[in-house]
Amino acid sequence: MSNDVLTNQARAETDRESRLPEVWASAAAQKLPRYTSYPTARAFAPMDDRGRSEFDATLGRDRPDHRLSAYVHVPFCQRLCWYCGCHTSVVHDYARVAAFHRTILKEVDLWADRLGEHAGLAHLHFGGGSPNALAPEDLIQLIDRLSDRLSLRPGAEVAVELDPALMSTDFAQAAGAAGVTRASLGVQTFDPDVQALINRVQPYERVAQAVSDLRAAGVSAINFDLMYGLPGQSPDIVADTAEQALTLRPDRLAVFGYAHVPWMKKHQAMIRDRDLADVAARWEQAAAMDAVLVEAGYVRIGLDHYARPDDALALAARGGYLRRNFQGYTDDPADVLVPVGPSSIGRFEGGYVQNAVAQNVWRDAMADGRLPVGRQLVLSAGDRLRADIIERLMCDLQVDVGAICQSHGLDGRALDAELANVVALSRLGLCEVQDRVLRVPEPARRLMRVVAACFDADTDLQGAVAV
Ligand code: SF4
Repeated sequence: MSNDVLTNQARAETDRESRLPEVWASAAAQKLPRYTSYPTARAFAPMDDRGRSEFDATLGRDRPDHRLSAYVHVPFCQRLCWYCGCHTSVVHDYARVAAFHRTILKEVDLWADRLGEHAGLAHLHFGGGSPNALAPEDLIQLIDRLSDRLSLRPGAEVAVELDPALMSTDFAQAAGAAGVTRASLGVQTFDPDVQALINRVQPYERVAQAVSDLRAAGVSAINFDLMYGLPGQSPDIVADTAEQALTLRPDRLAVFGYAHVPWMKKHQAMIRDRDLADVAARWEQAAAMDAVLVEAGYVRIGLDHYARPDDALALAARGGYLRRNFQGYTDDPADVLVPVGPSSIGRFEGGYVQNAVAQNVWRDAMADGRLPVGRQLVLSAGDRLRADIIERLMCDLQVDVGAICQSHGLDGRALDAELANVVALSRLGLCEVQDRVLRVPEPARRLMRVVAACFDADTDLQGAVAV
């Protein structure tokens, strides 16, 4: 190839890369899903009587070879961060949490009584809210109950999300004693001015103490959540936070962009629009954090996770068995996810279910001896096909669409109409397509959901980015 051709190719690639933030802006404006599931939770509908009886029948079926996962939602916090987008409420009186704890023990019993035979619980994940809103002894009792009633397997992962500023040494010791193997700390930012702007003040020393307490208690795996796009952040500020985070040697990090939706989350109105970066500046912040983490030797995982090269998530990514779920990315292969706690989402053979979001509705179900499931989505054959393609793309950055169509008993050309949209995106540098195999190149990693949206049956999203 002549030097001229090479120069022209390099120029075209540089042009394409320089346009990526613009594409990102367009994707952001369309509010594309992050595809932690497909279809996404907004497609869930209220469960009717027929749906309920079909669900009960599926649930009771014996699957002696199937391992379970469970997600436990603790919907309480001791403070309200202004950027929060979670289902939670602030409590200052432990009586409310104690009542929740009594009810959730009943829910564990209900699920255990209704599930058919299974191979035990291989992954248990506590999220919220802040699970450390529970008293240490209540955490131990809840893990014991789950372990006992859902048969926690030896070597199972027990992961807990934590608010590090408010986590006591007693709680860390309880987590260790209860068998917690992994803690995810919501660090977000170490910058004191940004912390003040989001109402989440937690000095570096406090986070370092939390990490030290957890490790001393035997919780050896530590994850951090970091954020960009928060008020007052700049590329330098997020890079400093990443550098500080690395001094505490986390095994994994997840890096999320702040979503400012004050019309949905009223408390976000405390964050002033003028303190927020525009879309192009958000891209620079994400890139600055990425550069620090990659330079330090962390491996990029999927859309927004990073891990040490020897971490199980990095091994799963390398081995092609990484999975996408509501907690982000996982190496957990379980197809059954049991939802515990208000608003929790579960997955069973037939599709997704979601527990009642309102705590009183959730509580009333248990008082009546009913499972608190309120919404569901029964997966069609088309949903399963598209879900497989989207999941592989979001995990591997590449997918053989023709092969997946054939594995679902279809002609390899079944999604050629969707592929035509992908080919159009390839002109923007978002993907490469050859023989129905798609690949998202490294510079477009942060835009993989734009490519994934081409396979979303919601046609409004398929054409989300103007080409
Ligand atoms: S600790 Fe987490 S869940 Fe609780 S208010 Fe803050 S961001 Fe939301």
